[in-house]
Amino acid sequence: MAKPINELPRLNSRGILRRLPSESTYLNASSTDLHPWSSRFKYKLTDLTGKTAIVTGGAVGIGKGIAYRLAEAGAKVMIVDLADQKREETVSEFKKNGWRISSYKSDVSNEQAVKSMIDQTVEEFKSIDILVNNAGIYPQVPVMKMTSADFEKVIAINLKGVFLCTKYAANQMIKLGNGGKIINITSIDALHPSSVGLAHYDASKHGAWGFTKNVALELAPHKIWVNAIAPGGILTPGVEEIQKNMPTIPEVDPSKILEKFMAKIPMKRMGEPDDIGKVALFLASDMSSYITGTQIVVDGGYLLS
Ligand code: NAD
Repeated sequence: MAKPINELPRLNSRGILRRLPSESTYLNASSTDLHPWSSRFKYKLTDLTGKTAIVTGGAVGIGKGIAYRLAEAGAKVMIVDLADQKREETVSEFKKNGWRISSYKSDVSNEQAVKSMIDQTVEEFKSIDILVNNAGIYPQVPVMKMTSADFEKVIAINLKGVFLCTKYAANQMIKLGNGGKIINITSIDALHPSSVGLAHYDASKHGAWGFTKNVALELAPHKIWVNAIAPGGILTPGVEEIQKNMPTIPEVDPSKILEKFMAKIPMKRMGEPDDIGKVALFLASDMSSYITGTQIVVDGGYLLS
C-alpha cells in the first residue's frame, strides 16, 4: 500500500533533498496513485485529457508524429494542413484508436484562413490549450539563384505562419483564462546551417527562435508557456521529396548528401517523427511546468560535430 505523502522520504540515497510534488498535483489521484515515482503517477503528469491541441502541418511527418503523441495522451487534436488526402488519411487512422481528432484545411501564411481555423477549433472542441506551430517548407535554392518570391514564400510559411497562428490561438487562450502551451518547431538551422541552399530557411528558423523567446516573455503573465524544438535530420515525406529532387548546387553532390549528414550524427541514425513527438508531449504537459522561452535540440548530437 502507498505511504501517505508526509511519510515519503525527502532525501535520496546520495543525501540530496528531493522536493515532493505539491499536494495539488495529487488532485484527482486515487489512493493507489499517490506514490510520486509510481508508473501511474508519471502517466498522470503527461495526461492531456480535456485539453485541445492544434498541430499545423499535422497530416504527415513530424506534425503527424506530434499529433499522435498528444492524442494518445488524451488531447482532442485539430490537424491543420493543406494536403487534403493525407489529412483525411491521418484522421481516419487516428480515429481507429478511439481518439478525438478533427482536421481543417488552412494555409498558415493566410491570415483569414488562420482566423477561420481557430474559430472552427473553438466551435468544435470549446477550447485551445496547446498550439504546435510545425507547418514548414525547406526548398533548397542557391542564394544567387533565389528569387524574391522564393525568399518571401519560405518566410511567409515558416515565420509569418508562426506569428499568425500564435496571435489568434493565444487570443483564445487569454479569453478562456486557462493558460496554455505553444510549441514552435524550429530546426538545428535556427542555430547553425546544416547545408548550403537554405539561406531563406535559416533566416526563417532563426526568426522563429527569436519570436519564441520574445513571445514567451510577453505571454508569461497569461500562464502561456512558449518553447521551441529544434529537430536535426528527421526522415519525413518532405525530406524524401528533397532527396528525389535535389537541385544543382556547386558545393553539393546530391548522391552524397545523406551519407555526409549521417556521418556527422554521433547517434548514427536519422531521427524519426516520434523522436520529436515525445519531446512535444513533454513540452505540452505538466512535465515541463517550469520551462518557457527555451529551445530543445533533438538531433542525435549532430550539432556537436
Ligand atoms: P513535411 O514536408 O514532411 O510535412 C510538412 C507538412 O506541412 C505537410 O503535410 C504540408 O502539407 C504541410 N504544410 C506545408 N505548408 C503548409 C501551409 N502553408 N499551411 C499548412 N500546412 C502546410 O515536413 P517535415 O519534415 O515533417 O517538417 C515539419 C517541420 O519540421 C517544418 O517546420 C520543418 O522546417 C521542421 N524541420 C524538419 C526537419 C527534418 O529533417 N524533417 C529538420 C528540422 C526542422
